[in-house]
Amino acid sequence: KDLSTDVLVIGGGGAGLVSAITAAENGANVVLVEKMPAVGGNTIISATGITASDTQLHKDSGISFTVEDHYKRTIETGKGLADEKLVRILVENSSDAYDWLVSLGLSYKIQSAEEPFWIVPTEGHYGAELIKAYQAEAGKHKNLEIKLNTKATELVTEEGKIVGAKVQGQDGEYVIKAKAVILATGGLNNAPDMIAEYNPNYKGVHAEMTTPGPTGDGIKMAVEVGAKLRDMDLFQMRPLSSNGNWYRETIITEEGKGGILVNLDGDRFVDETMKIWDLASEILKQKEGTAYIIFDTDVYDTKDGKKAFDLGKGIKADTIEELAVQLGLDPAKLKDTVDAYNAGQDPFNRKAMGKITAAPFYGVKTLPSSHYTMGGVSINENAQVLKEDGTTIEGLYAAGEIVGGLYGAGRVAGNNTLDDIVFGKIAAKHAIGK
Ligand code: ADP
Repeated sequence: KDLSTDVLVIGGGGAGLVSAITAAENGANVVLVEKMPAVGGNTIISATGITASDTQLHKDSGISFTVEDHYKRTIETGKGLADEKLVRILVENSSDAYDWLVSLGLSYKIQSAEEPFWIVPTEGHYGAELIKAYQAEAGKHKNLEIKLNTKATELVTEEGKIVGAKVQGQDGEYVIKAKAVILATGGLNNAPDMIAEYNPNYKGVHAEMTTPGPTGDGIKMAVEVGAKLRDMDLFQMRPLSSNGNWYRETIITEEGKGGILVNLDGDRFVDETMKIWDLASEILKQKEGTAYIIFDTDVYDTKDGKKAFDLGKGIKADTIEELAVQLGLDPAKLKDTVDAYNAGQDPFNRKAMGKITAAPFYGVKTLPSSHYTMGGVSINENAQVLKEDGTTIEGLYAAGEIVGGLYGAGRVAGNNTLDDIVFGKIAAKHAIGK
């Protein structure tokens, strides 16, 4: 029951669907395998919007966000560690990517003059509508077959060239032969053990707001055929999250507001207002890799405070001692910690001290979690996967979160669905010689 096709796409999130559509509309026969019972990946839960520059929307509204602004924002957010050549390609193609989304029937607006980089849907959930539109487009192509519940397990090589993959479907294991394979398996968000292997600071991290599929399969398969990885120690981590949901850090960082973090001994251990991505690893160093966020009514009354309390199934009490008892912390200790903080005593040089004095008081347990995988396989400008020596692995392409190099040490939110489109299209076109 082995199959043969022109292009095999592995993974049915944003990048996989875009590659498959592009190859199919250019006349190639395409098989896309998705290991889950549905397509969508983590793309389907992305909520923000797309980052795009110099789009028709910008021209029409007179709100400016230029390709150069976009480039600068991406490089700076990545602390200079991203691949400049890839970022250049990303930003120069964002307006076309936007036009393509519109051609699929989607409708967007600019978020605001203050945030001119985000293009957000005029209605509906961003990621869900995106995937719905991709699926509808994919369905138009008879030469594109999507096989659900089908997991790629190994790339097949012949004389150093990738010629297909072994897959495990509902009816057993077989090989799909292809002239080119596009890896689009996403990141490591649902693979906390792999994250800790690549960066021991994140030992104990939790999988957060992820669909089940992104478990690093593509990274493993690529490594087996000699792919070069880059930036694998770089992840975007959410310091504050509970029960698989993250909430905004403003509850501990906002100027003059008093949210603090304490460990299971009831001690503060960090400047809570430090860079949020570094904060996660500080929490993970504490006992059980966890901390409690302690705040008062002033913080609770902000939208983010209530949200954290609800999502984290928090505890509320009239006094700090009572709160400690209910959280399982030492009451005298927590009282001392809060009193010291309120008195402005701070060994961690916190920049914006506040006070925790307005009863009732709140405690929420946080378990840091993974949000985005920055690193991944190295690719060139054609989305071809590179070996350690910088040469290409013939027949192998990658697009989407599996790719390293677009983000460096920080991701601009909304660039990720853009890179699915830009590099998904590049991979597909190059794979079929267009
Ligand atoms: P991207 O934005 O890069 O497309 P997503 O997380 O949206 O990333 O999508 C990745 C998709 O790849 C998920 O739907 C996931 O289930 C799928 N996937 C991961 N590993 C495999 C595999 N071994 N075989 C088939 N599909 C896979």
